[in-house]
Formats: sequence, C-alpha cells, structure tokens
Amino acid sequence: MLLFDIHTHNKAANPTTAILNSSCRLPDRLISTGIHPWEITDNHEEQLAVVREAAMHRNTVAIGECGLDFLKSTATPEVQEQIFIAHAKLAEEYKKPLIIHCVKAFNRLIALRKNFAPQQPWIIHGFRGKPQQTEQLIKAGFHISLGEHFNLESAKSIPADRLFIESDESRLPIADIYAAIAAARGLTLEELAEQIERNMRIFGQF
Ligand SMILES: [Zn+2]
Repeated sequence: MLLFDIHTHNKAANPTTAILNSSCRLPDRLISTGIHPWEITDNHEEQLAVVREAAMHRNTVAIGECGLDFLKSTATPEVQEQIFIAHAKLAEEYKKPLIIHCVKAFNRLIALRKNFAPQQPWIIHGFRGKPQQTEQLIKAGFHISLGEHFNLESAKSIPADRLFIESDESRLPIADIYAAIAAARGLTLEELAEQIERNMRIFGQF
C-alpha cells in the first residue's frame, strides 16, 4: 500500500511517494517548486527565474506552494496576485498541477480561477475550512488537500476524486494522517490509500 504525500517540508520524507516543497531542483526525488507568499522579496523577478528553471525538470511534478495570504504576507495583495498568476502560467506551460497556500483570500482566489480558467488542477493545500467553504471551492473546480488539522465535516464532504493528503510541516507520520482522514470518511486505510493513488494520476508520473 502506497501512502502518497502531496506536500511536505520534511526532507526525510519518502523521495518517491512524497512531494517535497523545494526552492531548487533535486534530481533524486519528487519536488514541487514555488514562491511561498511569506517569502516574496523585492527581487521577485529573480525568485521567479529560479522557479522557472526548476519547473521544467522532470522530477518537478507540481508548481507551488504559491498563493495568497492576506493575513501574514508582507507583500501587497497586488504583488501576491501577480506572482501567483506567474506560477499559474508555469503550471499550464509545463502541464503540472498548482499547489496553493490560501489564507483570508478565498474569494479573491475563486475570482482569479474563474478569470484564468486553468486546464491544470488547482489544489488548496492544508485546508482547514468549514463545509460551506468546501462546497464553494469544489463548485469552483478546486482540488483540496488535507493535513494533520482539518474540519471533520469538510473531510466527509470532499468528493473522493478531488481529495489529496499531505504532511506539510506536521511531525506525524503520513500514515497517522491517512488514518485520521479515513476514520472521518468512514473508510479503511486501504480504501483511502487506493483512492488517493488513483487521484495521483494528475501529477503525471504515477
Ligand atoms: Zn507547506
């Protein structure tokens, strides 16, 4: 049984089933590459050039995490949106899903998606929102990734083919996170793992 982890910052995570968030390409493991909204600097053209370089690499299976954080980022909403859209364009160009960090900016993100109309999946990572927000995001076409902390009702309501699982910065083994989500959805660990494995097709290599 494979337990895929679509977003982790833990360098010790399994290199073939966990997608490490990395700012530079690593030839020996799966990564995603992007500029976190907390890490946007004045030199963002230079930062984007690094992402662009990593994006074309074969082991880079996703773009991000990138996104909008209207609570904690020091960059203005306008700059955040500009950088986010640059990532969304890379996702389309290289046909790789987009992993999104979104805090206090969901209405804006939904509007951007409508306008941009992506072909590639847009995945909200580390989602903790309530069922009403879940419904809104699912209707708008997003995929949703759950980690250690999630809303129980939301975890039940995400359609099976839109769900992903991640460890992010958690210290828990990914198996524990799967077990909690399986319990929330009334599934066995194996059933959940099989579903997520099917969903991993959007990353191309699985
Ligand atoms: Zn993260």
